[in-house]
Amino acid sequence: MSRVLITGGAGFLGSHLADLMLARGHEVVAMDNFITGDPANIAHLFGRPGFSFIRHDVTNFIYVDGPLDYILHFASPASPIDYLQLPIQTLKVGSLGTHKALGLAKAKGATFLLASTSETYGDPLVHPQREDYWGNVNPVGPRGVYDEAKRFAEAMTMAYHRFHGIPTRIVRIFNTYGPRMRLNDGRALPAFMGQALRGEDVTVFGDGSQTRSFCYVSDLCEGIYRLMLSGEVNPVNIGNPVETTILEFAKRVVALVGSGVKIVHRDLPVDDPKVRQPDITRARNLLGWEPRVNLDDGLKWTLEDFRRRIGGKS
Ligand code: NAD
Ligand code: UDP
Repeated sequence: MSRVLITGGAGFLGSHLADLMLARGHEVVAMDNFITGDPANIAHLFGRPGFSFIRHDVTNFIYVDGPLDYILHFASPASPIDYLQLPIQTLKVGSLGTHKALGLAKAKGATFLLASTSETYGDPLVHPQREDYWGNVNPVGPRGVYDEAKRFAEAMTMAYHRFHGIPTRIVRIFNTYGPRMRLNDGRALPAFMGQALRGEDVTVFGDGSQTRSFCYVSDLCEGIYRLMLSGEVNPVNIGNPVETTILEFAKRVVALVGSGVKIVHRDLPVDDPKVRQPDITRARNLLGWEPRVNLDDGLKWTLEDFRRRIGGKS
C-alpha cells in the first residue's frame, strides 16, 4: 500500500483521482486552497480511513508529515475563464507550485506525476497531436498564462528528473468531463449543460467549427493510474480521440437535455485552438490503455449529476 499526495485534491480531477486511489487500497493526502475547487467534491471522503486533507497554497513551502510514495501535482486553475480571471495565480502555481511539489518529491523519495495539458500544443499546426510535436503557443496572448506555466512545469519536471534523478511522469490531459465539474467554470460542457437545464440560450463561440475530443473522467483516471505505475518519463497524451465540432457537441447536449433551447453564437475567444485531437498511440502501446466510455453514456451520467446539483442549488 502506498501513500499518495494529490495537490488540487478538491478539484474536479483531483477528487476523482482520490476516489480511485482509495478504491485501489492507497492512502491519500489531498491538498488544496479551494481557489477553484470545492470542499463538496471531497466531503464524502472525510472520516474515511486512509484519507486526510491539508488546506494549503502549494506556491508556498509544502510540509507533509510522514512518508510519501507518489505526488500527483494537479493544483492549477484549469478552465479558460478561471485562468483568465486568475492569471498571476495560474502562472505561480505552474511555476512556484511545481517547484515546491518537486522539492517535496525529492525530499520524500516519491515519484512525481505532473498534470500537464493539450494546451502545451497551443493552436496546433499538427493534427492529431503527437507527443513529439512542440506546439504553437502565443506566449503573450491571454491563454499564455496557462500554456506557458504548464510548459515551464514540464521543463522543471524534466530538470528534476535529469539533475536530481527523481522518477517523474508527465500526462498531457485532453478535454475531460464528468460529474463534479463546476457549473459555472465556463468550459464547454458545464456551460452548455447548465444553460440547457436552466432553459437559457446555449452559447457557441464563433461558428462552432472548432473541434475538441472529449474524454470521460473515469477513463482519464485509469490512464493516469497506469502511467503513475509505469516507468515512462516522457510525456504521454491521455484523452479520447473521438473528435467533434463544438457546434455538433452543443446540439448533442441540447438534444440530451431535451429542453428545446436555442443555440446562439458569441465571439470566439482570442487564440481559441481551431482543432484538438490526441494521438494516443503511446498510451496504447506503453500502458495498454484506451478509453472505454462513449460520449452518449458519459453525457448521460454527467447530466444526472448536473440535474441533482442544479435542482439543489439554483
Ligand atoms: P479544478 O479547477 O477543478 O481543480 C484544480 C484544483 O487545484 C482546485 O481544487 C483548486 O482549488 C486547486 N488549486 C489551484 N491553485 C492552487 C494552489 N496554489 N494551491 C493549492 N491548490 C490549488 O480543475 P481540474 O479540471 O480538476 O484540473 C486539474 C488539473 O488537471 C489542472 O492542473 C489542469 O491544468 C489539468 N488539466 C485538466 C483538464 C481537464 O479537461 N479537466 C485538461 C488538461 C489539464
Ligand atoms: N465554448 C463555447 N461556448 C461556451 C464555452 C466554450 O463555444 O460557452 C467553446 C470554446 O470556445 C472552445 C471549446 O468550446 O472552442 C472548448 O472550450 P473549453 O472552455 O471547454 O476548453 P478549451 O478546450 O478551449 O480549453
